[in-house]
Amino acid sequence: MVNEKCVSKYGKELKACTDREIYIVLLELVKELAQEKVSNKGKKKVYYVSAEFLIGKLLSNNMINLGIFEDVKRELEEVGKNICDIEEIEPEPSLGNGGLGRLAACFLDSIASLGLNGDGIGLNYHLGLFKQVFQNHLQKETANPWMEENGWLRKTEVSYPVEFGDCTVISRMYDIDVVGYGNRTTKLHLFDVETADESIVTPGGIDFDKKDIARNLTLFLYPDDSDEAGRQLRIYQQYFMVSNAARLIIKECREKGSTLHDLPDYAVIQINDTHPTMIIPELIRILTKEEGFTMDEAVEVVSKTCAYTNHTILAEALEKWPMEYLEKVVPAIVPIIQELDKRVRAKVSDESTYIIDKENLVHMAHIDIHYGFSVNGVAHLHTEILKDSELHNFYELYPEKFNNKTNGITFRRWLLHCNEELAVYISELIGDGYKKNAMELEKLTQYLDDENVLDRLMQIKKNNKLRLKQYLKATQNVDIDENSIYDIQVKRLHEYKRQQMNALYVIYKYLEIKKGNKPKTPITVIFGAKAAPAYVIAKDIIHLILCLQELIQNDPEVNPYLKVVMVENYNVSKAAKIIPACDISEQISLASKEASGTGNMKFMLNGALTLGTMDGANVEIAELVGDENIYTFGESSQDVINHYNNHDYRAADYYIEDKQIKELVDFIISSEIMRIGDVTTLLRLHTELIYKDWFMTLLDLKDYIRTREQMYQDYEDKRNWARKSLMNIAKAGFFSSDRTIAEYNEDIWKLTE
Ligand SMILES: *Cc1c(COP(=O)(O)O)cnc(C)c1O
Repeated sequence: MVNEKCVSKYGKELKACTDREIYIVLLELVKELAQEKVSNKGKKKVYYVSAEFLIGKLLSNNMINLGIFEDVKRELEEVGKNICDIEEIEPEPSLGNGGLGRLAACFLDSIASLGLNGDGIGLNYHLGLFKQVFQNHLQKETANPWMEENGWLRKTEVSYPVEFGDCTVISRMYDIDVVGYGNRTTKLHLFDVETADESIVTPGGIDFDKKDIARNLTLFLYPDDSDEAGRQLRIYQQYFMVSNAARLIIKECREKGSTLHDLPDYAVIQINDTHPTMIIPELIRILTKEEGFTMDEAVEVVSKTCAYTNHTILAEALEKWPMEYLEKVVPAIVPIIQELDKRVRAKVSDESTYIIDKENLVHMAHIDIHYGFSVNGVAHLHTEILKDSELHNFYELYPEKFNNKTNGITFRRWLLHCNEELAVYISELIGDGYKKNAMELEKLTQYLDDENVLDRLMQIKKNNKLRLKQYLKATQNVDIDENSIYDIQVKRLHEYKRQQMNALYVIYKYLEIKKGNKPKTPITVIFGAKAAPAYVIAKDIIHLILCLQELIQNDPEVNPYLKVVMVENYNVSKAAKIIPACDISEQISLASKEASGTGNMKFMLNGALTLGTMDGANVEIAELVGDENIYTFGESSQDVINHYNNHDYRAADYYIEDKQIKELVDFIISSEIMRIGDVTTLLRLHTELIYKDWFMTLLDLKDYIRTREQMYQDYEDKRNWARKSLMNIAKAGFFSSDRTIAEYNEDIWKLTE
């Protein structure tokens, strides 16, 4: 199949082609096959609107979903080529930050795989988020170009003018076909401006003229918002996205015969976090100004079409835009927003739910909740916290709107592709049914006491650890030991995720080994995390981790027993290499702060044991696997919420009163670390931990150390560890995004065919 294509395109046999030539041939093959698949042409369609789609590389996943991966792999092998080398050629688009964007990508895969009628709508960021490089033990950001002449994007005829207060731009829609597993396709529509100009970015960095909208609009995802021009650029981007989305949705519904008065029979718009919120006033504007609707009619139709997903309870992440920004950037929808606020005021006395507050800030989530028909959280605990505290006043107004949709991940990418050896073995044991119905993984429980199965499981883990070792050697020139325990925390860097607590554990272990207390099995601690460019403390934490890596690497007393590796530029393809190799999955967020997490699910599915707080979906993992198969620690979400309400957590108390905690925290500014790192940075982090520590690192530190030590001790009983690992795999079926999407459809979208 591939050979013929090579001959017709390059006039030579497959075996004579370069990896890049093979990549191009496979890309074209997959695009052709995807075009032949049919999409669901049902009357009603879901539009998943999101500022982020962290889709990762697509070639191998598309081949798996098309059912040609095995054949292609074999054909390449027969002439001495390796599919893994071909995968390396494909650039990874960084069209998302982390979990929220990856969720959107998993959802598209499941929508297509379930054969539902639904498309994604987002933006085509030319340079992505940023590419992370380490320099002098610090994160440096560079542009991350990913578009090539030969790629997945297909230019369409669709183009609209988008009017801002001070300029008008012309959009262009590009499509990526999303191939479902053995089923239909859907589309990811990415809007762009043809005037975008990558040459305005400073070489080697990510700075550019934030005011040159026509040229900068689609260069970066979430450009630095530490200044006013950066924040306004976000509003330009958001309005550009939703204005195009609204035009496209109206066009498609009209083509299917909608009068627009029946819009909810043709379309449901899932608003992924608050970034696409302006689609509500924009649709109302179009319906009243151009389609002859009264305001009442437009409000009713739009409210029945839009549904909102909340992803966070972090106050700083709930968007509030100053009215004067909106007046400057998007004056056309300001009167609509004012009208929507007026209507809330006319019927509700609780000022905390108003759209425009006393300081003239516009609360985007409030628009979604008042003028959408569904509000969902992303894990049970998160939804309960929304109802009980964060959005309690809204819950009192609209209890019927609130519902939970626990997140999920696509098993095609996070098992079949990333851990092929395990997937093949599972098929040997229980057949292929689990690939379509993930709950069938439960059948694995019949092998919990089968020593051959447990041994084989450990062997597969070892092979994956060896592969990761080789990858890290080749890419970062670090040496790790495949016989060590791989203890891994990979996710965005944020104080609430508490990478700093993990770093304090590393300090603890370092000092223990120095004292002569050596671990039975050596430990490899792996980190991977990007920090937002303007998030100072997050970057300070990266600095500390990189300093620890250096210190330990060069200490012959410690190095044989403990290693720290910070993986550069953590992204989807790195995740796919790291996760299958993991023994211990660090999910240590401050309870109540991680809405769901999806990294936790990927690790579980690949047989890692979770070391975690009772937060987000960790709670549901614990319920599924039972207490013996997960390691939890730390104060409960209710305790933490009480600490915030009572203002009674003071990090300094823990620091002063506990000698051990003081020793670990002070090591940050020890001569050993200061010699390697930057004094100002380390001092700032040290001060932060003692005098602020907004996410309560020191609260759970002792319990964390205790639990982690217990885990290492339990690892020594390999059979029992393998049993726990198998239990985690067997119970992971619930976290398939196919289940999540089926629930969205059942409760919210109600697509009829
Ligand atoms: C899954 C994933 C995330 C989300 O990880 P969490 O641990 O849930 O925060 C972030 N980044 C990438 C690249 C991922 O694949």
